[in-house]
Amino acid sequence: MTHAHIAGSIHADVAKAGPQWLTLPEDLNQLRSELWPAGTERDAQGRIVIGGVALSQVAASHGTPAYLIDEQDFRARARAFRDSFADWRVYYAGKALLSRTVARWVMEEGLCLDVTTMGEMRIALAGGMPAARLGFHGNNKSLEEIRFALEQGVGRIIVDSFHEIDRIEAACQELGATAQVLVRVTTGVEAHTHEYIATAHEDQKFGLSILGGHALAALVRCQSSSSIQLRGIHSHIGSQIFETHGFEVAIRRTLRLAEQFRVATGVELAELDLGGGFGIAYTEADSPMPTAELARAFDEILDHECRAFGLRRPELSIEPGRAICGPAGVALYEVGTVKAVELENGRSRTYVSVDGGMSDNIRPALYAAEYSCALANRTSDADPVLARVVGKHCEGGDILIRDVFLPRDIAPGDLIAVPGSGAYCRSMASNYNQVPKPPLLAASQGQVQTLLRRETLEDLMRLDVGE
Ligand SMILES: *Cc1c(COP(=O)(O)O)cnc(C)c1O
Repeated sequence: MTHAHIAGSIHADVAKAGPQWLTLPEDLNQLRSELWPAGTERDAQGRIVIGGVALSQVAASHGTPAYLIDEQDFRARARAFRDSFADWRVYYAGKALLSRTVARWVMEEGLCLDVTTMGEMRIALAGGMPAARLGFHGNNKSLEEIRFALEQGVGRIIVDSFHEIDRIEAACQELGATAQVLVRVTTGVEAHTHEYIATAHEDQKFGLSILGGHALAALVRCQSSSSIQLRGIHSHIGSQIFETHGFEVAIRRTLRLAEQFRVATGVELAELDLGGGFGIAYTEADSPMPTAELARAFDEILDHECRAFGLRRPELSIEPGRAICGPAGVALYEVGTVKAVELENGRSRTYVSVDGGMSDNIRPALYAAEYSCALANRTSDADPVLARVVGKHCEGGDILIRDVFLPRDIAPGDLIAVPGSGAYCRSMASNYNQVPKPPLLAASQGQVQTLLRRETLEDLMRLDVGE
């Protein structure tokens, strides 16, 4: 090692204090490019700049906590999927992050959009996304939602149960409409990810089981319905997946199902949707596959498996959410308090409390998600300390970042930016502890635009209509 730290022995001790995967960076002020929106840098004053805007300025003009999306980075990631998966249809999973403007970006970049509820449909349509480019998901769509989707001319409905098939038929008959349908199946694949976001194994609420025979029965049922035009099969095996092996097994099993369906009915299914779940880098421990490489791997697997089953290559679609909006977004917090807590091993941990927490990012509490962060308003030459960034809520589990190295001089008033916060943070926000939800802002070419304004206490008071 050529780099000599002045405080070498202190660093060695601090370095051992964190979890094994967490390495002590040589320079705490450095921003790892794989974690941040493309082009993120520090300006001459040491402030982090995203989309041409200094985060300190964002904090000054819009307050904290706040979510900031780099519009150009979001668009570039959407385009990378569209271009790499060139003859596929790409559905952006709106549940990851959605507003009218986000829907418009998705539309302008030529993608389709997945929605799950009336609310998501309404926002997507209000953003100008044509209904024909919407995929309607969910394991408990109401008759009202199905009716609305059909009235609007929704592109397709991804069916999740026999009761839903009944509802679709009823709505179609009432409206004189025909529904384009994919059947969501469970392939038994358990993707290598946290249990709560691994959705294709059998014992869970989504989809119809291939193993149990329900998937084939649902396909046959849809095929025989005069109201339904059956398009094909849908499989989504989980989220934050880094390897293609799970997809390979899912492809094999869905194609085998398509083959069984052909034998049973003489019909070859036109379409296969492989869902989303492509992993992103939250910390230095994550190394996602570049989108182009992912597309090449998928194409190879499909060609191989289709040949093996003697099936024509179906029309294909995928549904990335996190991989488009996640890395494009950061959360911005202000530090309120800092305190050291002595640990049993004689070391200490620095608790850094910020002005948000589990109400704007539930993921660490919900499924032990890991994040990293950086001091956003300045650089620091102070020694590193092992820190835990926590929120302001009344829960011991209100932890945003379990382990991260921050400069020892971090203090109230400093700003912290958390990369990888574009997906499943603001979209999952709650009003726990009667905290108003933070705004969603977009930065582009030095300008900040508000996509979702900050909730106010008046908003909360207005909802409370009791005596
Ligand atoms: C959540 C979800 C996605 C998107 O998952 P990401 O991990 O954000 O890519 C895609 N399809 C379905 C059916 C989903 O439920």
